[in-house]
Amino acid sequence: MKFHTRRRFLGAAAAFPFVGAAIGQDLPLTPECGPQSALTPRQTEGPYYTPNTPLRSSLVEPGSNGERLVLAGRVVSPRCRPVGKALLDFWHCDENGRYDNAGFRYRGHLFADDEGRFRLETIFPAIYPGRARHIHVKVQAPGRRILTTQLYFPGDARDGLWREELVVAMVSKREGRSAAFQFIVDA
Ligand code: FE
Repeated sequence: MKFHTRRRFLGAAAAFPFVGAAIGQDLPLTPECGPQSALTPRQTEGPYYTPNTPLRSSLVEPGSNGERLVLAGRVVSPRCRPVGKALLDFWHCDENGRYDNAGFRYRGHLFADDEGRFRLETIFPAIYPGRARHIHVKVQAPGRRILTTQLYFPGDARDGLWREELVVAMVSKREGRSAAFQFIVDA
């Protein structure tokens, strides 16, 4: 599978210490992990995934006009153990509701640190016709199967794919929005 191949290819990059992993916000992670926790639900990939995304923790580029969003959280196992070095590959539409299907605007992957923590800087994606606002993501514990899903935001209009278990915790600050989410994956 392409994704696994790419992960091996990026092994050297993953070996460097992960910097800036502190979650650094007062938000509770949603959902909480406990004895009754279910795996993070899978969702359709949709038509706009592009493989071989750049390794980066910020998708903000010169010319990014959208409101800033920091999405941070953890990747844990069903027994609530941190999944170190989990791979997270994000993609979402731009401030006008469009996907970049030629290049990699608002696309990128990163690795969680040894405690399963991740932090992505990006913009708050626009809503495009027919969908609730969302961010697509693939999450993979090292050597395990890929979880493909979507994250949603509190207070937005819902659609047929929207699920409560996939809604991030979020606060708005002067400098932008902070969101938090905990992925529970096969590990
Ligand atoms: Fe989408």
